[in-house]
Amino acid sequence: MFLLPVFVIAQNEDSIMIKKISDDILKNGKAYDLLRQLTKTIGGRLAGSPQMVQAEKWGLETMQLLGADASYLQECVVPHWVRGKGDVVAIKKINNKTTSKTLAAAALGNSIGSQKTIVANVLAVADFDDLEKRKAEVKGKIVYYNSGFDVTNIRPFKSYSESGIYRRNGASRAAKYGAVGVMIRSLSESTDNFPHTGVMAYNDSFPKIPAVALGIQDADAFWQLCKQNTISVSLLTHGKMLPDTIGHNVIGEIKGTEFPNEYITIGGHLDSWDLAEGAHDDGTGVVQTLEVLRALKVLNYQPKHSIRFVLFANEENGTRGAEKYAAEAKAKNEKHIFALESDAGGFTPRGFGFTMNAAQLNKVQAWLPLLRPYGIEQLSVGGGGSDIGPLNQQFGTALGGLMPDGQRYFDIHHAANDVFENVNKRELLLGAVNMTALIYLIDKYGL
Ligand SMILES: [Zn+2]
Repeated sequence: MFLLPVFVIAQNEDSIMIKKISDDILKNGKAYDLLRQLTKTIGGRLAGSPQMVQAEKWGLETMQLLGADASYLQECVVPHWVRGKGDVVAIKKINNKTTSKTLAAAALGNSIGSQKTIVANVLAVADFDDLEKRKAEVKGKIVYYNSGFDVTNIRPFKSYSESGIYRRNGASRAAKYGAVGVMIRSLSESTDNFPHTGVMAYNDSFPKIPAVALGIQDADAFWQLCKQNTISVSLLTHGKMLPDTIGHNVIGEIKGTEFPNEYITIGGHLDSWDLAEGAHDDGTGVVQTLEVLRALKVLNYQPKHSIRFVLFANEENGTRGAEKYAAEAKAKNEKHIFALESDAGGFTPRGFGFTMNAAQLNKVQAWLPLLRPYGIEQLSVGGGGSDIGPLNQQFGTALGGLMPDGQRYFDIHHAANDVFENVNKRELLLGAVNMTALIYLIDKYGL
């Protein structure tokens, strides 16, 4: 009987604070303007590119401007892949009859270029099982994988993780049987025709062959064409892996008052693919992270734990920034109690996913009534992000990931239409509201 009022008072105090956070961010939030700067003045910023350097400088200056107690760059070695000039894929022959139809195609990240035009017949397969059945036909051909998203999955992220294997491993699986090139259906079910790039990797046991993704409209038509006909295509890409170079995680801190040596990390990744502006992936995670910093400083919140705001390097084609951050934390024997990532797009927030033990999850789930007014419907098991994953592996750090509405993310993911114009200001800010509220609750009550 006695405990109930105390609980109610605490809930009330917290709901007042979260309302303050929300009001301030929705009225005065800078995330949208910062996103415009990052996407429109810098643009795509793949590891090793000149834009990466510009983005790091911008990130550091912004941390300082927003009043971080400390801000600095953390050096790490990053890979340096360049696409080179235009990827060109075209249908050259249909049943030996000459034709010329250019396909919307983009080389996959980290793939080697063909350097000169390859012309070869196509073996179109539905999936790896199909490839295995037809392996005797592969030699000298360009293999096309039509494996697409399972549209019956309600969460597109599930489809992405299921189909991702074709982008990552498709080239070497086909090279094993003598393929000279690979084309995949983009990892998307968009209705437009932008090709979606993304990282791939070679198995060193087999020859390295060029690999591209086709836009969905062209992929659909191409698959139909291949069913009835013998198709020959030409493929020209220029991708190159240059020597590793130096990149940086950009880090800002607010010092903890009670437990200055215990850290809460919040972040997104600063790098993005070269084809677009990296707005949703992951410009929004970057500016939401900066928004949390801004809001906590403006509201004069004095955290108990030290809070780190991290713009990670090289998530897309190496995750070297993530590895460096965890390695440095280990070398300094830091204590990391929680890490939160936003890397699922800047759409309307729906929930958070957590990787933590049952007791911690129970504690966090009890806060749902405090977050529900701001659009959070679930605090569920499983979540985090690839930039904070190594902290969990290193220290068992509890992880959280913002879960925005995912229905439109793969329309733009790693494609030329991932631009500022496709981000909605209120959706972006609401994500930052909930991230700030969650950080506030975890800092106040611990885990
Ligand atoms: Zn991302």
